[in-house]
Amino acid sequence: MGFIRKIIDFFSSDKSGEDRTNSLMILLRFVLCLCTLLHFIICGYLTATRYAPQNGIFLISGSVLIVIFVLSYFVPRSDVIVALFSMTTFVVCVTAGPALGWIISGYGFMLVAIMLLWFDSSKSIKIKTILTVIITASVCALFIIKGSSLNIILSDNDYSVLLVINTILLSASIGIVAYFLCRDNVSDERKLLQYNAKLKQMAGIDPLTGLMNRRAIGERFEELLKEDTQCITVAMGDIDFFKKVNDTRGHDCGDYVLKALSSIFQDFMKDKGYVSRWGGEEFVFIFENFNGDDAYPMLEDLRRKIEKTDLEFFSHKFNVTMTFGMEEYSPMFGSEEAIKKADEKLYIGKESGRNRVVY
Ligand code: GH3
Ligand code: MG
Ligand code: MG
Repeated sequence: MGFIRKIIDFFSSDKSGEDRTNSLMILLRFVLCLCTLLHFIICGYLTATRYAPQNGIFLISGSVLIVIFVLSYFVPRSDVIVALFSMTTFVVCVTAGPALGWIISGYGFMLVAIMLLWFDSSKSIKIKTILTVIITASVCALFIIKGSSLNIILSDNDYSVLLVINTILLSASIGIVAYFLCRDNVSDERKLLQYNAKLKQMAGIDPLTGLMNRRAIGERFEELLKEDTQCITVAMGDIDFFKKVNDTRGHDCGDYVLKALSSIFQDFMKDKGYVSRWGGEEFVFIFENFNGDDAYPMLEDLRRKIEKTDLEFFSHKFNVTMTFGMEEYSPMFGSEEAIKKADEKLYIGKESGRNRVVY
């Protein structure tokens, strides 16, 4: 197993730079070495004693393929390698085709070269199309010019054997190319899905506090309603006289307060529901499966906790308070309406002296 692993690693290594498609080089090696070369060797072997000229052709083209294989580690341009590969198979086709039959002489490998060509991400579609047309036209010209002078010198038996071998190796080549195509596609798709999930997560997070933002909590609220959650209570909290914190201690201190309180909220809500930064110094809390009577004492606890929390910014010690308005969700109105009602109660709390929960 270790030996096979080493061979696969050797085939898969990319030794000369990043300016080309690595998977194309790996494919070239697999298709060149395992399939085309094997095909040429078998053809050369089976025709060795009886058909001397073809034998020589397979010997020479086989050697050229080995050179191309070695070059695939050093030549930084994959299109050059594909072109050399196509030319070699074309020469074999021209010289051995009329005597052995087109299929056996390996024109199918030229078509595999077209597939390889389309793997080269460094080439434009225009260039790929032109090269595809050139290869296809060469094969067609070969058939038109030499087609009538076909003089197959193989016995029926040899013909069948070579036909079977050719089919197996060609199928293997196409299978390998298809495997790489699927593998790359699947991994690209997976990366894209992960990236999208990350983007979606980032789009729903407030960068300063790390809490959900307004959009994300709105969506979460809607999801809870769809999930047939038993009861939901929503609260809107606002820091009292926050402007004064900014004005007297600076904006950075204001940011510090937002972050410190957010971490308290997150910890407090982790077994109760969700919290989000609604905007500025306003926060929305969703109590999942808690009615207003259950949520009220919880919010009171939170309010007292905030009141007692000693904040310290560059050795300035201070405290802040918060006012909350809360509303139990009712199917009579939607999620937006529930938040609006909580906000109205928050306003009442501010009007009646702050640092309180209005239910
Ligand atoms: P009230 O008790 O009535 O809520 O008074 P307040 O001063 O808290 O209310 P006001 O709406 O007048 O002030 C909110 C302040 O919050 C104004 C704004 O500068 C500040 N603020 C909003 N977002 C941020 C932020 O991201 N960082 C900092 N440091 N301040 C912010
Ligand atoms: Mg405020
Ligand atoms: Mg405010």
